[in-house]
Amino acid sequence: MKFETKAVHVGQEPDSATGAITTPIYQTSTFVQDAVGVHKGYDYARVGNPTRTALQEVLAALEGAAHGHAFSSGLGAATTLMHLVSPGEHVVSVNDVYGGIYRMFSQVYEPKGYRFTFLAPQEMSTGLAEHVDEQTKLVWLESPTNPLLNLVDIRAAAEAAHAVGALVVVDNTFASPYLQQPLELGADLVLHSTTKYLGGHSDVVGGFVATSSEGLSERLAFLQKSLGAVPGPFDCWLVLRGVKTLAVRMDRQCESAVTIASVLERHPRVESVLYPGLPSHPGHAIAATQMRNFGAMVSFTLGNEEEASAVVARTKIWKLAESLGGVESLIELPARMTHASTADAPFAVPPSLIRLSVGLEAAEDLIDDLEAALSA
Ligand SMILES: *Cc1c(COP(=O)(O)O)cnc(C)c1O
Repeated sequence: MKFETKAVHVGQEPDSATGAITTPIYQTSTFVQDAVGVHKGYDYARVGNPTRTALQEVLAALEGAAHGHAFSSGLGAATTLMHLVSPGEHVVSVNDVYGGIYRMFSQVYEPKGYRFTFLAPQEMSTGLAEHVDEQTKLVWLESPTNPLLNLVDIRAAAEAAHAVGALVVVDNTFASPYLQQPLELGADLVLHSTTKYLGGHSDVVGGFVATSSEGLSERLAFLQKSLGAVPGPFDCWLVLRGVKTLAVRMDRQCESAVTIASVLERHPRVESVLYPGLPSHPGHAIAATQMRNFGAMVSFTLGNEEEASAVVARTKIWKLAESLGGVESLIELPARMTHASTADAPFAVPPSLIRLSVGLEAAEDLIDDLEAALSA
């Protein structure tokens, strides 16, 4: 079965009681038992809920995974994964990482004695072996990275990590499973903020982890139940609804993104454009081998921070907001917004960097709006 068909049907059989074609929102906290321990597979809704099960099944299928676990947010999923690691153990993370993940690693886990090494994406791809040993439990990467859109060679990083017995987590939020399937490239665990492309409509916060390892899945189910960062049934339903159109949304958003990136690359006020789909991008070749298309996130730099903050305040169709992956096009200044937590790190993002999340409006309107903001 192809991706698009799975997105509409896996885990989403018509309701057996009524024939309802959409998965019901099982808004219930508990399930009645016939006798002690005799029930229909559900006992308490933190442990499991049929709407959540449908979501877990379809997202796992889309990642080519045997198992999936849904969480209350992307960070809820990340916190749960961090319980696979104990204080004193070592985690290697790409340094160009989602700001909230960096804040969690550096301000929550590092002070508790967890040890972190942050590596540049290039080093993750070609020199990871020199930075891992038997104490390394997790290798954490994003590709493309946020917000600099650097590429990590997932196969190469997985090989170096596995040589010392470390698990590889790929945050696949930017690409979505439609563009990239990290388990096939050697990752052990795939993380999503379903808030972004999977939900796709800027109306829900959620997280997800996929794995094909039976042992990891059992542990994650235990952690999910024990730590409690679970999504409610309506939130699961919103993501289920979003996922059905992921492929068509992504196709159009990628098409608009490459057009917009090319226009920006020729614009006299733009200093550099970061988009993996441009042949000038240093990660273009890696992206072409591990992604179906190049995604719908575009970053670019202007002469200085003042210019950049003036431009993001002037666009009309592009809304100035954090987040990404929705039908609405968004514009933001990572150094002051999504990535303020890396301001003091050696790898702080350039202050004049503008990040775009390309939505589903007509590319022509989006370009006109950007050009007007750039020429004012
Ligand atoms: C948004 C995001 C997260 C965090 O997810 P939440 O749903 O906001 O908790 C993690 N990783 C990436 C790449 C993100 O964009």
